[in-house]
Amino acid sequence: MLEIANKELKVMPEKITIQAGKLQVPDNPIIPYIEGDGTGPDIWNASRQVIDAAVEKTYGGKRRIEWMEIFAGEKAFNLKGTWLPDETVEAIREYIVAIKGPLTTPVGGGVRSINVTLRQVLDLFACVRPVKWIKGVPSPMVNPHWVDVVIFRENNEDIYAGIEWERGSEKLQKVATFLREEMSCEIPEDAGIGIKYMGQRASERIMRKAMNYAVENNRKVVTIVHKGNIMKYTEGAFKKWCYDLAKTEYANLIVTEEELSKYGGKVPEGKILVNDRIADNMFQQLILRSNEYELLVCPNLNGDYISDAAAALVGGLGMAPGGNISDHLALFEATHGTAPKYAGLDKVNPGSLLLSAVMMLEYMGWKEAAEVIEKALGQAILDKKVTYDLARYIEGAEELKSSEFARAIIERMA
Ligand code: NAP
Repeated sequence: MLEIANKELKVMPEKITIQAGKLQVPDNPIIPYIEGDGTGPDIWNASRQVIDAAVEKTYGGKRRIEWMEIFAGEKAFNLKGTWLPDETVEAIREYIVAIKGPLTTPVGGGVRSINVTLRQVLDLFACVRPVKWIKGVPSPMVNPHWVDVVIFRENNEDIYAGIEWERGSEKLQKVATFLREEMSCEIPEDAGIGIKYMGQRASERIMRKAMNYAVENNRKVVTIVHKGNIMKYTEGAFKKWCYDLAKTEYANLIVTEEELSKYGGKVPEGKILVNDRIADNMFQQLILRSNEYELLVCPNLNGDYISDAAAALVGGLGMAPGGNISDHLALFEATHGTAPKYAGLDKVNPGSLLLSAVMMLEYMGWKEAAEVIEKALGQAILDKKVTYDLARYIEGAEELKSSEFARAIIERMA
């Protein structure tokens, strides 16, 4: 039990819980945070000030977040001799909603990416990445206001499951011999081998996550993104399982593109259109006809590529939020890395972490506070008071430090 009495509220902070399958958020929830490596502390400090100010502004002291630091990455290694202490994983499990800055991926020594490990041990199967243009942010698009999609990327399977063998290794020889002799596969002598697998359960649950989001947020198009024309039994099966799930569990709510001819080519009132696009086509569709897409459901690798490509359309990774979510557990995070060359300079854009906090507040049902941040952030950008990454593309912009940008946002909270 965390022994911090919240003096202003005169109550003990409480945990977020799950009751009857629903998130129960007290007025003074304890939320664990990992500040992150490199530029992590700069963007965390800036973001935290903005979040606290927005909650205070919105709820006038009735609600408040009690932040609890947990450790991962370099700070954990220096303090506790391990990159990802068990207690950090347990705290996220116990407190249900958490937020993190970027973490260094340890190089060599067989240490896996901390981000990937967190997703796998906590079974955070859905990587959710909203991509929406904020007015005033420099964009390479002619119509950046068309971009408003949420990407649902399956997080655990596909080629990212980490099953691969190095060229020349003993294990590779075993696998290659099996494939050549038992399966009649032609494997070049100089190749490494990786395994791509995709399962029905994982495909169904990412589709379910997207469908539920569409229903709850009044979204009208859900697009399955796949490369099933080439990889029939993995990506092709993903497409089939996603369609089957939508047709079975959301039968009354959806119409598929195939069925549209029955309705004169128009989506009937109140229905969600479920369609699919081959991944390479999806990339160009997103650039040329982004107004036709709302939610994208992707296998791991496609989702990884398309998330960053989509972010580039609306200002790049400095402004791209994300969350890794299981049925209930949710870990929100800046989507960029630690940008080590700027560490400690109070320079980089806290926008990605801050917008991830907006997602977190929405997830908690604190939508009013989320809106206050979004509006104030938008106003600071319109007023051309921005960090270096945006300032370099906005004529007449005033370049602010991370902390100054936070203050500029707070000053604009209505
Ligand atoms: P990076 O840290 O994302 O930085 C690449 C470039 O992106 C920066 O030099 C900067 O570009 C721009 N950038 C990143 N964050 C920004 C911000 N907040 N504001 C403005 N610009 C920003 O990528 P990296 O250098 O490839 O990776 C560094 C470390 O981060 C590695 O250890 C990597 O494994 C790790 N990483 C962690 C995560 C995560 O924790 N989720 C994700 C990716 C990478 P300019 O110099 O052009 O301004």
